[in-house]
Amino acid sequence: MRVGDPPTIVGHECQRCGRCAFPPDPYGCERCGAGVDELDEIELAAAGVIHAIATVHRHHHARPETPFTVATIVLDDGIALKAVLTGDVSAAAIGSRVRGVAVPWETADDGTEVVDLRFEVADIGRGASG
Ligand SMILES: [Zn+2]
Repeated sequence: MRVGDPPTIVGHECQRCGRCAFPPDPYGCERCGAGVDELDEIELAAAGVIHAIATVHRHHHARPETPFTVATIVLDDGIALKAVLTGDVSAAAIGSRVRGVAVPWETADDGTEVVDLRFEVADIGRGASG
């Protein structure tokens, strides 16, 4: 992820077959077997549509605190990913447009502020673009 407004997601595109992936395949293209040297870094817009949604009431980590809402999001670039939703999740439903937001997560030992990529509903009130 690159923090900006809106943030972008860093994935890759295979030079040989054109497959785009996120997260990047660490050993090469999963479709055609091209090596990592044949993968180009690409930036994907953190915007898309909710494909599936669920509220998590119990899980094995302390954070994020339950309950929280997780969604499978199909990015405008065609790649699907899972992410935690933030903001007014009562407006979130299958088909809702969402956009990425960088949420403060923790401060690393070296003082670096670490953020988490979450998504918020972008079409509250209808007609809003984003
Ligand atoms: Zn490939």
